[in-house]
Amino acid sequence: TDQPIHSPDRQPEDPDAALRPKSLTEFVGQEAARDNLRVFIEAAKGRGEAMDHVLFFGPPGLGKTTLAQIVAKELGVGFRATSGPVIAKAGDLAALLTNLEPNDVLFIDEIHRLNPVVEEVLYPAMEDRALDIIIGEGPSARSVRIDLPPFTLVGATTRQGLLTTPLRDRFGIPVRLVFYTEDELMRVVKRGANLLGMDIDATGAREIARRSRGTPRVAGRLMRRVRDFAQVKGASTVTATIADEALTRLEIDNLGLDAMDRRYLTMIATTYKGGPVGVETLAAGLSEPRDTVEEVIEPYLIQLGLLARTARGRCLNDGGWAHLGMSPPESGRA
Ligand code: ADP
Repeated sequence: TDQPIHSPDRQPEDPDAALRPKSLTEFVGQEAARDNLRVFIEAAKGRGEAMDHVLFFGPPGLGKTTLAQIVAKELGVGFRATSGPVIAKAGDLAALLTNLEPNDVLFIDEIHRLNPVVEEVLYPAMEDRALDIIIGEGPSARSVRIDLPPFTLVGATTRQGLLTTPLRDRFGIPVRLVFYTEDELMRVVKRGANLLGMDIDATGAREIARRSRGTPRVAGRLMRRVRDFAQVKGASTVTATIADEALTRLEIDNLGLDAMDRRYLTMIATTYKGGPVGVETLAAGLSEPRDTVEEVIEPYLIQLGLLARTARGRCLNDGGWAHLGMSPPESGRA
């Protein structure tokens, strides 16, 4: 595919599936989220009821889909998955909802991209377990109410702020996912290496973890590329040296930034003298969708302290200048 290797976006063949943890215990990191979920799952199971609706939000590749599957599994109920843009008509959603078994989990990825008409139908479904469907057209049109089985809606979105307020308010359990620490990613890498039958030592695992942008999906992808590289080199064990050689070839630098991240930083530094500059302008300059810039590129640069989002636009921090090996222009300092 022509997708950048480092992008945390899901790829069509979904190699993610092989590395998915299957239980809350197996799931690495996100301790606060896991502790909370464990309590809600336990309580719902104890009462034999559907769990309250859950919203997972956070950058792509942090485990939203994985957690949704785990929730269903730990509840011991069925799991159905779809995504916001796929549900074109109210009737599509009605078909999904009426086919659920009692207490099932319905997972809607990219729930902020639901068609507004479909979203309206979702409100009473979430709140009253009922569907209000208009049948017919013109003067003969009438509204019919259909009762639904109890169910748990699990929504996922890259940013909570993208949801409309009425939708956000209907989730009893909002869960924020955060970037993983290096130690957590090291556990993700070791676990993945085991599953992939890849021999890696602690230094190799740390090197991949350090350069995975705080994101398990990226760690999985880098592991596969490093494994290919080691195999072709005839190295039986992946060490830090092997990992570094492979990742450097992929243009992933020592902070884990890829070519696109550096183009982004360089554009602010050189074209806009460190900023502030608007996100639309940057997206146009990079020929990337604004969503990609805001949801994939920026959050990690902000996390690293290289970039600041201000009311007037994006600004390079001192760390950003240092990473580029440049110094800020004398007059342009904030
Ligand atoms: P999202 O839905 O947030 O984009 P996914 O749930 O699809 O992310 O996870 C992406 C990949 O990362 C999957 O291969 C998954 O197995 C792996 N992954 C995510 N979180 C963890 C974790 N906590 N421990 C181990 N692997 C994880």
